[in-house]
Amino acid sequence: MAKATIKDLDLKGKRVFIRVDFNVPVTNGVVSDDNRIVSVLPTINYALEKGAKVILASHRGRPKGEGFEEQYSMMPVYLWLKNKYEDNVFFSKKVIGEDVIAKTDELKEGQILLIENLRFEKGEKKSDPEFAKELRKLSDLYVNDAFGTCHRKDTSVYVLPALYDKPVAGFLIEKEIHYFETVLADPKKPYVAILGGAKVSDKIPVIENLLTRVDSILIGGAMAYTFLKAKDVEIGKSILEMDMVELAGDLMAKAEEKGVKILLPVDHVVTNKIEDGRIEITSDVSIPDGFMGVDIGPETIVNFKEELKMAETVVWNGPMGIFEIDEFSSGTIAIASAVAECGCTSIIGGGDSAAAVRKAGVFSGISHVSTGGGASMEYLAGKKLPGIEVLADK
Ligand code: ADP
Ligand code: MG
Repeated sequence: MAKATIKDLDLKGKRVFIRVDFNVPVTNGVVSDDNRIVSVLPTINYALEKGAKVILASHRGRPKGEGFEEQYSMMPVYLWLKNKYEDNVFFSKKVIGEDVIAKTDELKEGQILLIENLRFEKGEKKSDPEFAKELRKLSDLYVNDAFGTCHRKDTSVYVLPALYDKPVAGFLIEKEIHYFETVLADPKKPYVAILGGAKVSDKIPVIENLLTRVDSILIGGAMAYTFLKAKDVEIGKSILEMDMVELAGDLMAKAEEKGVKILLPVDHVVTNKIEDGRIEITSDVSIPDGFMGVDIGPETIVNFKEELKMAETVVWNGPMGIFEIDEFSSGTIAIASAVAECGCTSIIGGGDSAAAVRKAGVFSGISHVSTGGGASMEYLAGKKLPGIEVLADK
């Protein structure tokens, strides 16, 4: 069922609470990556154009929930907004209470009030009805555009919206839902999943769910070694999750039963030391003693690319190697380029994966780069997101 969006509300003259994801990195008091801010500007600008009085609220980082902590303040975000909206944006150091309510009342149409980090209040992380009641006093209408937080039951995304007649989604969430629903409900085939990154254990529910939907799964990154171990391959001192080896074996057996192809690396970039070590490319699948796999090898890249050529739908989570280090980034960059060039519907989830796509310079070739790490994983695992479920249907 489609969710109601900000377009379904009459915003004129109303105080509109927009839950955004401004959980951005800050260096020396300045926002150092404004992607998350930029991606909700369509929603903010739409509300301003319609004559709303906009209240923006977010969390940033993991403060203790015992009041102000400078390193997690929203002040740098306020300065970013100030640069763009000049005299039409204001800041409240208080999250709730008389003072901030008064500030919302003073707003004129087309103006913005950014409030301080929601997690400075201990209630935010606790699905707290009392905290929700206080937040409710700040506005007439509610919009959620913080996709990256929707898998949590934080008060502002889960308890607060239920206190409005018609809590709605912003444009970013609408777009995220659109892409995830497309691949979940009716993916065009062949449907290929690419999984990599640090840990198998993080991705088990995703693999299990994908096994019922996809035609093939390409596995790279650190998690590949646990799968290779399950096939008795020598993996040297590569990252291994010993307690996941059996499960990895089971998943491969299940895949075979279902006719889902699983492709593992057949060669690797290896090193004896991550920094300033000797770097080699293995001649086959096994990794010599004292070496660890840090990227997929050239043969593997060819195999994975071949599989991607025919794909109509691709989902990808997790880089193919330690892509942060240039020497170990070729596999990830090659796969990112192949996905961008395949002319398929492509969805990328996960913070590091999104960063890898940017590093590869192919961002615009991807249909949808999700802004939610955890949230996108839960979606791909077939779970419902609490923050989206609670929004009104169209
Ligand atoms: P995402 O954030 O996209 O969900 P993850 O957090 O699961 O991705 O994994 C990303 C991390 O995995 C990166 O920091 C990367 O360096 C690491 N990684 C990938 N391959 C390897 C490897 N072979 N050995 C060690 N770490 C790896
Ligand atoms: Mg990550």
